[in-house]
Amino acid sequence: MMILSEKLADNLKRIKGNIEDACTKVNRNPADVKVVAVTKSVEIDIIQCLIKMGHVDIGESRVQEMVQREAIIKQSFTRKLEPLSATPRPELTQPRWHMVGHLQRNKVKPLLPFIEMIHSLDSLRLAEEINTSAAKLGLNHKVKILLQIKTSKEKQKDGLAVGALSSLAETISSLPNIEICGLMTMAPADDLKKASFCFNRCREIYEDMAKEPFITPRFKHLSMGMSGDYIQAVEAGATIVRIGRTLFE
Ligand SMILES: *Cc1c(COP(=O)(O)O)cnc(C)c1O
Repeated sequence: MMILSEKLADNLKRIKGNIEDACTKVNRNPADVKVVAVTKSVEIDIIQCLIKMGHVDIGESRVQEMVQREAIIKQSFTRKLEPLSATPRPELTQPRWHMVGHLQRNKVKPLLPFIEMIHSLDSLRLAEEINTSAAKLGLNHKVKILLQIKTSKEKQKDGLAVGALSSLAETISSLPNIEICGLMTMAPADDLKKASFCFNRCREIYEDMAKEPFITPRFKHLSMGMSGDYIQAVEAGATIVRIGRTLFE
């Protein structure tokens, strides 16, 4: 466990260093870039490790796994169970859970009580489901979402078509229990030129949308960049990078 957490700390430090360098290059403040650790490929004890290191933003791509993990980790806080209890650390912060993967409408409800942000809002029907479920649950806050947009031509990628985005966003912004907090995109793997193109395109769309009358001050995030392309994403203006593999290697 010691070696594991040292390795994790090293990797996180390296990633943050790379983010700082990218920010320096384009004259941005590194404090404006948040790392979401995407833990879908690792065991839950690694999440516990991250929490002990003070890393609070955790991403998952599958609802069932996230719900199970959230419950276990919450218990380890509230009932002081192992493994967090071994050394009681009152200063530890509960994780903030980010849904980054494609979300099916029938799986929305169990996420809503605890989710920090849904990065993958890719249809109006999903937005309506979130809105209705939030009302049924009596949530006393709006659900924060990012609109996932399609910036590459790859067929398999989920996301809203750019052409329909503005009118869709206006409709979604009228739903009372949802708050549009920005945009998310995914670039094609293994082609950094194309990735940069996608990220810059996403930032342009973001800047255009920010001028729309229905947009609120909460609209301030660009979630883009993964292990293979987060440096390009930061250079293009990402405020959130979603990193898995390179953090755990
Ligand atoms: C898995 C995943 C990531 C992290 O990918 P890595 O290549 O492991 O860094 C980011 N975003 C989404 C939507 C994912 O599904």
